[in-house]
Amino acid sequence: MYDVTEIRRDFPILSRSVNGKPLVYLDNGASAQKPQVVIDAITKGYAEEYANVHRGLHFLSNLATEKYESTRGVIARFLGVPDEDEIVLNNGTTMGINTVAYGWAMPRMQPGDEIVLSVMEHHANIVPWHFLRERQGVVLKWVDVDSTGYLDPQAVIDAIGPKTKLVAVTHLSNVLGTVVDVKAICDGARAKGVPVLVDGSQAAVHMPVNVKDIGCDFYAITGHKLYGPSGSGAIYIRKERMAEMRPFIGGGDMIREVHKDEVSWNDPPMMFEAGTPGIVQTIGLGVALDYMMGLGMDNIAAHERTLRDYARTRLDGLNWLQVQGTTADKAAIFSFTLDGAAHAHDISTILDKKGVAVRAGQHCTGPLMDHLGLNATCRASFGLYNTVEEVDVLIDALELAHELFS
Ligand code: PLP
Repeated sequence: MYDVTEIRRDFPILSRSVNGKPLVYLDNGASAQKPQVVIDAITKGYAEEYANVHRGLHFLSNLATEKYESTRGVIARFLGVPDEDEIVLNNGTTMGINTVAYGWAMPRMQPGDEIVLSVMEHHANIVPWHFLRERQGVVLKWVDVDSTGYLDPQAVIDAIGPKTKLVAVTHLSNVLGTVVDVKAICDGARAKGVPVLVDGSQAAVHMPVNVKDIGCDFYAITGHKLYGPSGSGAIYIRKERMAEMRPFIGGGDMIREVHKDEVSWNDPPMMFEAGTPGIVQTIGLGVALDYMMGLGMDNIAAHERTLRDYARTRLDGLNWLQVQGTTADKAAIFSFTLDGAAHAHDISTILDKKGVAVRAGQHCTGPLMDHLGLNATCRASFGLYNTVEEVDVLIDALELAHELFS
């Protein structure tokens, strides 16, 4: 049974107060809180087991290497990947997508080649492609969402033309909560011979993910949203795509031999992991993913569906509040604006006074904000430890904000 009261005890920060009120943490879309097992793994990693990885032959280096490398296997299991060599460890999604942009896309794209994107991408899945537009004359083709925030997979597939070299889409919108049918997109793109990069930063937090079943070529995740440490993450890269890639960042660990006149690369995935990595962070990510798998991704998803449905009903009852993103298949992520002149920042400040942490702003989604015709929204994003009672606290705080600003 999924006992949220019990689960909350695993997260020490959840028992603190903020502004004299019990913390109601609804900013999980930005970064999630950490369970004690992750905090303990970080402490132990530094206090008892720390050394640099891969290079040493001494006890601590071997121990740290073993623990660090075991995370690769945990991530592979978490994403449904049988061969852990398809997992590149890094410090998060931004690095993962840049690795694809520099390592795979830049060497193979010509002026006029196209990348298909949805309008609701996070800047991490936009700006690296702008580099290619600016520097190599690559064309960015945008696919809109409808008025509910739904992204029609067929519209993405239809946007793929003879010059399209890549489709890059989110699996779950960090603003609208929309779940994208990336499997349908991958099926259609594969039929046209075009690889697909999926930004899994949000989706992997809220639902079971099997990248082999999805059929994508690249799938990026970021540790700090997965209840793990910041500065940890990974990208799944299909073997065939890895074989087409050039290394992106040069330095130690990613090489086999270096001489004055020549250099040879380590095999993938090490070829894409230059320099001393986030050792303890990565170990902590492995512990976080084990924690999530221990709770059960299906159970987490079911719990969050309950939160979503309850929050949706309560928010729908506020006729002075507009929720952005109303598709049936969405996560418990609610972006909203209030009638009148109140800015999202002011609303979030009022909520903060009540101990409720939400995000206000553009959420790193400029093109989506343009599409919606908005400057900013408030976003309440739920996680595995949130409760329906916390939805009620949010609603009470919103009613107060409405009173103050109307
Ligand atoms: N993609 C999505 C959908 C996100 O929500 C985020 C983080 O907010 C990112 C990418 C970037 O993640 P990071 O900053 O950890 O690299």
